[in-house]
Amino acid sequence: MNILIFGPNGSGKGTQGAIVQKKYGVPHIETGVIFRQNISKKTPLGEKAKTFIDRGELVPDDITIPMILNRLKEDDCKKGWLLDGFPRNLAQAEALWAALQKENIKLDFVIEIDLDRETAKKRIMGRRLCKMDNNHPNNIFIDAIKPHEHDGNIICSVCGCEDLSARDDDQDASAIDKRHGIYYDTKTGTLAGVNYFKERTKVIIVDGSTGVKEVAEELMKKLI
Ligand code: AMP
Repeated sequence: MNILIFGPNGSGKGTQGAIVQKKYGVPHIETGVIFRQNISKKTPLGEKAKTFIDRGELVPDDITIPMILNRLKEDDCKKGWLLDGFPRNLAQAEALWAALQKENIKLDFVIEIDLDRETAKKRIMGRRLCKMDNNHPNNIFIDAIKPHEHDGNIICSVCGCEDLSARDDDQDASAIDKRHGIYYDTKTGTLAGVNYFKERTKVIIVDGSTGVKEVAEELMKKLI
């Protein structure tokens, strides 16, 4: 099963991606996670990527495209994959489509989580990451997934872990605006990539403005 998932930062794409990943048991490949792992291990790739990520810009295509196309060739991807955070622009969409066509690999599902820019921004600023599992949903602005309080500390709404933190690039309004500028750009940005796929294959669109559970239910109904 080969799946692409699109959605602006703040749309719950990571959370829904984890649910889809569980359903199909394929590796969840998140470009942002790969970059952050490289940054924390201080690899040359991480050092290069950090400058761009901190500014809310895309890591250049000549780094990102081969990194992902090579990742898809690894053994665990033989049974399929869920790609999240890639393609992020039209050039990446074209490169991925060309690579898939060349290898005769079929895309089973392309998912788009639809959410307006203002709501997405508010959600990002409230997002908190759980040290135990980054996909545990925690957001100080959303009642359904608000972290609980314990002795004056906030704790994960799922596992109760006390180690919740905000990503640096989540607290920087101008970096968020830049990331959203890239996502909502229909000329060369991510939505241009989504539209590119819409011209070539079926894209499943789900409304991201409801709660985590509702979005997951709508998605599961459509994934057949
Ligand atoms: P994310 O965790 O998906 O929000 O990604 C964090 C950051 O990693 C982004 O703001 C970009 O700087 C970088 N990044 C993630 N995916 C890509 C991609 N497909 N192409 C270029 N840069 C990316």
